Amino acid sequence: MRVYNFSAGPSMLPESVLAAAQREFLDFSGTGMSVTEISHRNPKFEEIVSEGEALLRNLLRIPDDYAVIFVQGGASTQFAAVPLNLMHKKKADYLVTGNFAKKAYQEGLLYGDAAKIASSEDRNYTYIPDPDAVPYRNGTDYVHICSNNTIFGTRYTKFPQTEAPLVADMSSDLLSRVIDVSKFGVIYAGAQKNLAPAGVTIVIAKRSLISDPLPVCPTMLRWKVQDENKSLYNTPPCFSIYMAVLVLRELAAKGGIEAIEQINEYKASLLYDLIDNSSFYRNEVCKKDRSIMNVPFTTPSKELDAAFLKGAEARGLVSLKGHRLVGGMRASVYNAMPIEGVQALAAYMKTFEKEHCHENFET
Ligand SMILES: *Cc1c(COP(=O)(O)O)cnc(C)c1O
Repeated sequence: MRVYNFSAGPSMLPESVLAAAQREFLDFSGTGMSVTEISHRNPKFEEIVSEGEALLRNLLRIPDDYAVIFVQGGASTQFAAVPLNLMHKKKADYLVTGNFAKKAYQEGLLYGDAAKIASSEDRNYTYIPDPDAVPYRNGTDYVHICSNNTIFGTRYTKFPQTEAPLVADMSSDLLSRVIDVSKFGVIYAGAQKNLAPAGVTIVIAKRSLISDPLPVCPTMLRWKVQDENKSLYNTPPCFSIYMAVLVLRELAAKGGIEAIEQINEYKASLLYDLIDNSSFYRNEVCKKDRSIMNVPFTTPSKELDAAFLKGAEARGLVSLKGHRLVGGMRASVYNAMPIEGVQALAAYMKTFEKEHCHENFET
């Protein structure tokens, strides 16, 4: 039986996509081979890569002067690729709004004068600092942000407007909402949250910024090299790219990112409205900064949290345990989570509250 999987990543993929992949798993596109068996130089596979790029360009309205590449190593490798491609003046600003943003900053420190110019660590990352009130420094190579903080359940609703190119880790919200790519210098995202199985990472980068990587930048991390080779410099993560294309086709068929964003807003509102109308459940995040992808919440006690998770599991609502840095629960409701899954979770939350709200607990 398929369950509703609220995992933060790797996470749910559309059932239709899994079924399509299964149907053609033994014979990809009439080749008589599995997509996991054919050469990445096979024209049929090259077509898949081109289609993936074209779909991303259409869905996100990516301007022509931006490279769109598929690379390996996850978002964590991009934490290093960012300074290695961009840090000419050895000076960059970082907004630290969560665990991954902090890791990106720490990686930046290895290459130059990376500065934590804003942070929400003082309140356990439950808010996003006002991007207009941040003391950006002059003469930096870039400003780095994480658009959606997967662990803490926050997101930017307004992006920094900076003189230096804006670089964003969008691993957990790329393709979930409309963005203006032209406002960013570089966007990168590991696929396993919202797009595909683990293995492929998307990089979208303004070409004028990436023409001159630092001399020490490894060839594999040179975005320019990956761009010139159409993501086929070496063997790419073929299966993940193929799965990403199946997902992208479905997003396009559903009406694109505008339509997806509306559904995502609706799904998140089902949970936030329930939490806000309850004195039993809590979400600690500053309301205006709430993520629509990751919804952390708690019951009045650790014991009830444990009971909640156990009962959820029994109903086929799985992977709801919160990250160890936050505790409680976290419902990750990425693009592939059906509305029915969120409705099932909301119904269970109501039932659980009714059953337990009269118990003695410290509030
Ligand atoms: C999951 C995640 C990462 C880490 O991705 P890997 O692919 O495991 O390296 C980085 N940033 C964000 C925002 C994430 O959600």
